[in-house]
Amino acid sequence: MPLETVTKIAELRERLRPVRQAGQSIGLVPTMGYLHRGHAALVDRARAENDVVVVSVFVNPLQFGPKEDFASYPRDLDADRKLLAEHGADIVFAPSVEEMYPRPITTHIEVEELSVRLEGERRPGHFRGVATVVGKLFNIALPDRAYFGEKDYQQLQVIRRMVADLSFPLEIVGVPTVRDVDGVALSSRNVYLSPVERAAAPVLSRSLAAAADAIGGGTVDPQDIEAVVRGVLADEPLAAPDLVAVAAADTLEPIDPKAPPPSIALMLAVRIGRTRLLDQRVVAVP
Ligand code: AMP
Repeated sequence: MPLETVTKIAELRERLRPVRQAGQSIGLVPTMGYLHRGHAALVDRARAENDVVVVSVFVNPLQFGPKEDFASYPRDLDADRKLLAEHGADIVFAPSVEEMYPRPITTHIEVEELSVRLEGERRPGHFRGVATVVGKLFNIALPDRAYFGEKDYQQLQVIRRMVADLSFPLEIVGVPTVRDVDGVALSSRNVYLSPVERAAAPVLSRSLAAAADAIGGGTVDPQDIEAVVRGVLADEPLAAPDLVAVAAADTLEPIDPKAPPPSIALMLAVRIGRTRLLDQRVVAVP
């Protein structure tokens, strides 16, 4: 089946109604476009598990702060369509901002606590914008399953909590981070990096690997783990850490070294030049 492009909410609903009535399953992959192999891994997983695969491409203004890169965020729907066709997606849903928000939105989904900690503290309103648009996309597509990358680990946890709290009738599937050969997590924002900055970017995954080794060796005190990460990051003069978080993987609560959780989430936001890169790793406590 060739890839279909749908830009209107009503049209997507009409297209998917008979799918559901026929008892076929729908997988949704929400994205902001400028797709790469990381997004493709989500699409492949959705393709393997569902009858119909819908990928949304929407740069959501609600989740960008006033000083963030909404206007300059990279966009290329033709290239996205090519990648999606190659990976067997059925429908790309690419609405305009006016279609999604015909008037200023006054109703939001706020996942308390989880949304304001860590990355949420640094980007006020970000996770509220994410939860609101994802909830809206769920109401539009009514998927059986929705796919999210572990790269945005706190986002994945926020969405899981939203779905549990509000009883959204679908399953959330987390997909491991896809990396370049040098360990750099693929991201649409990597295009912002100059060659020199790109050469510095592997320091993120290197610092996470060092912390994983330390945890494997029995270190569970979050301050010690953070020091390992910061020590590696400090070796790279272009890297300015914005967030180094060590938390219980399932709740993102702080860790008590006397009662460590079964696994630890390491979450990083590091500025390299003007680009803010994220990376993450979940490590089982031995
Ligand atoms: P974005 O377009 O950046 O909003 O990302 C859309 C979805 O793709 C999110 O669920 C991301 O976590 C996921 N994603 C982005 N980069 C990667 C990657 N390198 N590996 C796996 N998933 C990713």
